[in-house]
Amino acid sequence: MEKCTFCVQRIEEAKITAHARAGGSADTLIPRDSFTTACAQACPTGALVFGDVKDPESRVSKMKKQDRNYRLLEYLNVNTRTSYLARIRNPNPKMPDAANIGVASLEEKPA
Ligand code: SF4
Repeated sequence: MEKCTFCVQRIEEAKITAHARAGGSADTLIPRDSFTTACAQACPTGALVFGDVKDPESRVSKMKKQDRNYRLLEYLNVNTRTSYLARIRNPNPKMPDAANIGVASLEEKPA
């Protein structure tokens, strides 16, 4: 079993390609969202997004700005690289199981 390396081989390949393309110049910037991890590439629903969180215009940065974004153990000041988007639930009270739908916070309870 191996731990996730965030596909370090793909990151290194992108760095090497950018350096080779730059030649002797200092323009070694990797084009925004130009590569991704193997699991994100293979995911048929697009549930995984990989990118440069330091680039505010990258797809992953824009997704992290959503209200639904959260990280595990953040309250312990653990600064994880991976974050998640909270599940969207149907709040329609006319749905048969509306009363059984969980809530994300104690303040927010189904009608
Ligand atoms: S494919 Fe996904 S889980 Fe596997 S190393 Fe790459 S980023 Fe990590």
